[in-house]
Amino acid sequence: LVEITGLRKSFGDNHVLQGIDLTVEQGEVVCVIGPSGSGKSTLLRCVNLLEYPNDGLVMVRGENIADLNNNLDEARRHIGMVFQQFNLFPHLPVLDNCTIAQMTVLRRERPEAERVARVNLERVGLGAKVTAYPAHLSGGQQQRVAIARALSMSPALMLFDEPTSALDPELVGEVLAVMRTLAEEGMTMLIVTHEMAFAREVADRVVFMDGGVIVEQGSPHEVISNPQQERTKTFLKRVL
Ligand code: ATP
Ligand code: MG
Repeated sequence: LVEITGLRKSFGDNHVLQGIDLTVEQGEVVCVIGPSGSGKSTLLRCVNLLEYPNDGLVMVRGENIADLNNNLDEARRHIGMVFQQFNLFPHLPVLDNCTIAQMTVLRRERPEAERVARVNLERVGLGAKVTAYPAHLSGGQQQRVAIARALSMSPALMLFDEPTSALDPELVGEVLAVMRTLAEEGMTMLIVTHEMAFAREVADRVVFMDGGVIVEQGSPHEVISNPQQERTKTFLKRVL
């Protein structure tokens, strides 16, 4: 579903991605781990053209996303993204937060958009909150709205960039539970996370990045429990 080859991205003389090769198969859950500044967010942002790659190829559903740069809506319509910050519209109730992009980007009629939004709000356990405003929700609930909003676009792929890092510890579990359910339902997901227990349990594959390269990747058992590379071992010693 996603095929990345030779991806490079620099900011000035800061070479953040130095040749990334990564594939994500349909239905696969890939967790990206690595120290701060290793380029994890930049990698995700290159997949949906929030950053434009300097070199290399990013194919999503068989299409070179660079070819879609003049049509960002088209490039992103099959890709849902959930950030550390929830970025909900504060002046709109939960339901409208989940319908706007459906109507503007996918040209769905309001009744259909609302039907889809309600289904996805149910999915994340917020069926009772459709009329609430973001400010009246907990951080965990807001992040689940952000997930429902992304799901409402019927994406082929979901990108998550540290979706639980901004949450109070007691709210992390409810968001991870939703993500675990999505994984079980077969959603294709590329997830940057510091939650090692989650990665170990849910990921089909774990990718360890450091210094703009993939140092090591494999099953959670291989990468988290039995890392081969010194850099991976050092990182895991610090976070586990
Ligand atoms: P963290 O775990 O802290 O989120 P990360 O692995 O996601 O780190 P990135 O956010 O991808 O790391 O950043 C990698 C490097 O790229 C950092 O040195 C950062 O300062 C730099 N960088 C990222 N985005 C930009 C930008 N838009 N302009 C300039 N430099 C940037
Ligand atoms: Mg980051």
